[in-house]
Amino acid sequence: MNCKEFEKNIPGFIEGKLNYTDLKEFVDHRARCAACREELDIQFLVMEGMHHLENGDNFDLQRELDRRLSGELKRLERHRRVLSIWVFLGIVITVAMIIILLWVFL
Ligand SMILES: [Zn+2]
Repeated sequence: MNCKEFEKNIPGFIEGKLNYTDLKEFVDHRARCAACREELDIQFLVMEGMHHLENGDNFDLQRELDRRLSGELKRLERHRRVLSIWVFLGIVITVAMIIILLWVFL
């Protein structure tokens, strides 16, 4: 993901609507690009800050963004774990099928 794509994905991230692939690239890009980290802070402030101002509640923007990021990272981690369970099951089933076929035909 480049800076332009990152910027395009910011609203999706803030609304929690990125799919796993985009989310992973988004988080990776954010970790290595200072300009985009700043851009995300600004857009988050504008989008979320306005919303909270309207409601008149007191809120810590940086903490809210950190909370959002760590929530999304946990979501990615869960997804990765579920995927590896499926890969593992796939391997087990394949090996079992090979053993059964060998047993039947040999
Ligand atoms: Zn960037």
